Amino acid sequence: MRDLPAALSGAVDRGEIEAWFQPQVDVGDGGTVGAEALCRWRHPEWGLLLPGEFIGVAEDTGAIEGIGRFMAEECFAALAEWTAVDRPIDVSVNVSPVQLLGPLFTDWLAERLERVNLRRSTLTIEVTEARPLENVPALVHRLDDLRRAGLGIAIDDFGVGQSSMRQLKRLHGTELKIDRSLVTDLSAAGTELLRRVVDAAHELGIRVVAEGVETIQHLQRIRDLGCDRAQGFLLGRPLTRSDFTRRLVGAVP
Ligand code: C2E
Ligand code: MG
Ligand code: MG
Repeated sequence: MRDLPAALSGAVDRGEIEAWFQPQVDVGDGGTVGAEALCRWRHPEWGLLLPGEFIGVAEDTGAIEGIGRFMAEECFAALAEWTAVDRPIDVSVNVSPVQLLGPLFTDWLAERLERVNLRRSTLTIEVTEARPLENVPALVHRLDDLRRAGLGIAIDDFGVGQSSMRQLKRLHGTELKIDRSLVTDLSAAGTELLRRVVDAAHELGIRVVAEGVETIQHLQRIRDLGCDRAQGFLLGRPLTRSDFTRRLVGAVP
């Protein structure tokens, strides 16, 4: 049987955790304007594991601290590399609410931001609403600190779980990521709901990213509704950093 907690401890140090990057495109002109960092665990026996299989365990055991730092460092490296090849784009990183509530990660990040050469608005922290958020006042406080430091704040998976426009306002996000379940629901009611969400976000001055765009029909509709950016298998699957760089410079893998 797999002992995930034991195997996960030290996985970062053993070089088993990897950052992959999924493109985000401008809905208007189709250009690649951003990338979301997604973690993968390459276990020597079990192969490549997706975050759904281990992030929960990492949150419970504390291994998420090392993973979170590693992913942030990979984003710094990617931002530097893509600026160096003259393709400066934005990068987003998922940060577990568990990590945002403890001071360790945010203190570490604030310190790292002082040292890395980075245009801060190019890095966005994604916080998911898929699970009920605990201690929202403390979370708001931490997110405010990060926003004041110049980073973007994305509310991820909007449309599942507890999501509401009220919550969005409360968290002071700069970006709203609409969950695949809303993006792929092409019914009239689904379209009306999506329209209301996009309009409300824009009224608040928040950028809207549609997730899980898999077909031309999904893309056409989110374009008609005025979404700013799109992400999904139609536009590009997650890639390793070197493959992503090849895509950016025109040698599509
Ligand atoms: P997410 O942040 O909402 O990331 C998008 C997920 O949807 C990714 O799954 C991506 O591969 C998948 N996806 C993208 N486009 C499509 C599409 O067109 N169709 C379908 N069916 N799926 C699509 P992935 O990489 O398995 O990540 C799952 C979740 O794990 C992420 O959801 C995020 O909540 C979490 N996660 C990923 N990396 C990290 C990390 O470094 N730290 C933390 N705390 N959580 C992470
Ligand atoms: Mg995300
Ligand atoms: Mg999401």
